[in-house]
Amino acid sequence: MPRVFNFSPGPATLPEPVLRQAADEMLDWQGSGMSVMEMSHRGPEFMSIFARAQALARELLGIPQGYTLLFMQGGAIGENAIVPMNLIGRTGRADYVVTGGWSQKSLEEAARYGAVRTAASSEAAGFVSVPPQDAWQLDPGAAYVHICSNETIGGVQFHWTPETGDVPLVADMSSDIMSRPVDVSRYGLIYAGAQKNLGPAGVTLVIVRDDLLGHALPICPSAFNYAVQAEAGSMYNTPPTYAIYIAGLVFEHIQRQGGLAAMAAHNRAKAAVLYDYLDESRFFQNRVAREARSLMNVPFHLRDPALDAQFLAGAQARGLVQLKGHRVAGGMRASLYNAMPIEGVQALVAYMKDFEARNR
Ligand SMILES: *Cc1c(COP(=O)(O)O)cnc(C)c1O
Repeated sequence: MPRVFNFSPGPATLPEPVLRQAADEMLDWQGSGMSVMEMSHRGPEFMSIFARAQALARELLGIPQGYTLLFMQGGAIGENAIVPMNLIGRTGRADYVVTGGWSQKSLEEAARYGAVRTAASSEAAGFVSVPPQDAWQLDPGAAYVHICSNETIGGVQFHWTPETGDVPLVADMSSDIMSRPVDVSRYGLIYAGAQKNLGPAGVTLVIVRDDLLGHALPICPSAFNYAVQAEAGSMYNTPPTYAIYIAGLVFEHIQRQGGLAAMAAHNRAKAAVLYDYLDESRFFQNRVAREARSLMNVPFHLRDPALDAQFLAGAQARGLVQLKGHRVAGGMRASLYNAMPIEGVQALVAYMKDFEARNR
């Protein structure tokens, strides 16, 4: 059976060479006589897999000295609570910039652990832009400022790094991590669930500046305490070993392709194929402000929503799958993560042109 072009927002498409290598190594990882799933997380085989994944992630992301990289569990939604439990204790207050459904959810969860404020929001216009920095009302006494670098549902992405002075910047990068280079030194903390751009669900990357460790609220579970996990090398509890192994293969794949600068060029080229067509079409429409358009998730609407089901069925028949938009957004959404080849986007646009011509 041929593989489809999978536009799922997550869990999402993975590089085929990674899946092939994992299949080859399933029963016997490199002569160990075991599957990675069957290994002790403290044994020499898994420790080597772990060390390599960690080193590659640090290299690809350019993580500087003074930052700890953790492989945790709980996903980005878990981090919505884990971040305030670890960071808000310094001053009891935090600022949130709300650009869509995910940052809104982060704010609501954090409110259980301290005094949180909306420093800026683009909700009034329907979450189709990023509020400019000069419209933000930042609290200099906040323990941190939280953003979501890419709103996976709304298709709204930051294309600039906020300046928050002495207040640490915290970013949920679940749906755009490793899609482009990032200057980690501008952030206090970055977190990302793996299942969009890095591998299978189950592992969460956390990059934390070391001076932010050690301020956790007493209620914070030990397994979710960054300082405890940093001290234990992410092995205070059993880490999600198989997910880390696959993420490590994805990191190797990204490195072979030229690293994050190459990913960014590839992602810009792919997104342009779809946005250029959306801009010329009068049948399909993307509603996001140009300067905030996501290169990862492209929501679009048919002028006549009565044709949605027919559009999706025709796409499915051509092996273009998981294009249905999020239930709150409606319409369609094409997710174009690192592992989506440009041929997938070209095939999608060819289908859209054909559909438009037949239904105009
Ligand atoms: C997918 C996603 C989440 C939720 O991730 P879970 O793994 O379900 O916790 C949170 N934030 C963003 C930006 C996402 O894309």
